[in-house]
Amino acid sequence: MARIFCIANQKGGVGKTTTTVNLAAGLSQIGKRVLVVDLDPQGNATMGSGIDKRALELSVYDVLLENASVAEARQRSPKAGYDVLPANRELAGAEVELVELERRDKRLKAALVTEAANYDFVLIDCPPSLSMLTLNGLCAAHGVVVPMQCEYFALEGLSDLVNTIKQVHANLNPELEIIGLLRVMFDPRITLQQQVSEQLKTHFGDKVFNTVIPRNVRLAEAPSYGLPGVVFDPASKGAVAFVEFAKEMAQRLGRA
Ligand code: ADP
Ligand code: MG
Repeated sequence: MARIFCIANQKGGVGKTTTTVNLAAGLSQIGKRVLVVDLDPQGNATMGSGIDKRALELSVYDVLLENASVAEARQRSPKAGYDVLPANRELAGAEVELVELERRDKRLKAALVTEAANYDFVLIDCPPSLSMLTLNGLCAAHGVVVPMQCEYFALEGLSDLVNTIKQVHANLNPELEIIGLLRVMFDPRITLQQQVSEQLKTHFGDKVFNTVIPRNVRLAEAPSYGLPGVVFDPASKGAVAFVEFAKEMAQRLGRA
């Protein structure tokens, strides 16, 4: 049975997509069957997995509107070892169209039911908002992985997300929990980052993953080649950290 996770943080540019595609590639490397669901109309996880978002015949949009199944709309990443339910700008329309429909927040959950036996992990790359799309992700998931930069306002932004997760847990999805906080783009030379990192550990204890993802330019270069950093430059510090993180995730969930 697949374990389903949202990679979520309502801030943009904090490393959600980088975490999604590199965790997916890392888990694939240790033999796990992985599906990435791109739930962001920007389609960065799609492109970053080597799939052209401008040439999609079917996408997650068609799945949410029940015009296609996951099996029909998914594609294999050419080089990264996992499947992708891709997205492009069309998905922005779903936000409006879903409002009128029944079970609007449970569409993704329903669509993934038939895929549970085909994957070990489903990773949902959420958009930078607490929108209907993110809500679909949170309703479908067992847990949330929160990538965050250790900056001054990090903890403040976190409380909105934690409250949303609590509400979804109470009203819509009793299974939902925070799996962990992942420190990304970390630069140990910056004292403030060390301080915020310590604060995080004080507040959230073992909900903070042991693995830390360093700031590493190879991770930022990889998407323009349609590859996760883990595949683009396996020896780079960022790639090594993400493979380590994949192992930590698998272990934490008893699926090593
Ligand atoms: P989000 O999906 O939250 O908007 P992204 O994963 O797209 O964030 O990351 C934002 C930008 O930061 C991208 O240009 C990405 O390549 C870069 N980036 C992400 N993680 C790292 C890292 N560890 N080191 C260097 N650059 C990174
Ligand atoms: Mg993104």
